[in-house]
Amino acid sequence: MKKPPDLQRLEKMLRASRLAAKGFLGNDPRALSEIIEQDLSELARLGYTKEHIATRMQELTDLGRHGLGTPVTVEEDMAVTVDEHRGQIVCPWPHAGRYAKTVTLVHRSDTDEQLCWSDLSIHLVGRHGFFQGRGSPFRLDPAQLVRILYRT
Ligand SMILES: [Zn+2]
Repeated sequence: MKKPPDLQRLEKMLRASRLAAKGFLGNDPRALSEIIEQDLSELARLGYTKEHIATRMQELTDLGRHGLGTPVTVEEDMAVTVDEHRGQIVCPWPHAGRYAKTVTLVHRSDTDEQLCWSDLSIHLVGRHGFFQGRGSPFRLDPAQLVRILYRT
């Protein structure tokens, strides 16, 4: 499939720059447009949109903030720990957007599964439908997100 030119440019930048070293694409050989399409269709198959997921992630981050770095039990079997970090990260897409380096860790004690994300991850999911590439330390697998965030 032909890629839109802006995504093509962005992908080139992501792979070439030191942003790649920070792990946005990991070692995923797929084109950026393909990664996004496949993750969004997987989400749709599960009955969710990127907006649902980002809203839920933001809600958990906001609840977890009250713990000031210690775990907050937000629901039965679900604890959220938020670590605030100084500084901001810029979204790699070509628009103005800076995001705090806050890291949110969600732990489900019933299944002993956990997930973590930064404020930038929430933005990448909600705005760009980008869950990051396979092999990236920040990759958020759509099926796992749904399973952990919605207790399915
Ligand atoms: Zn952005």
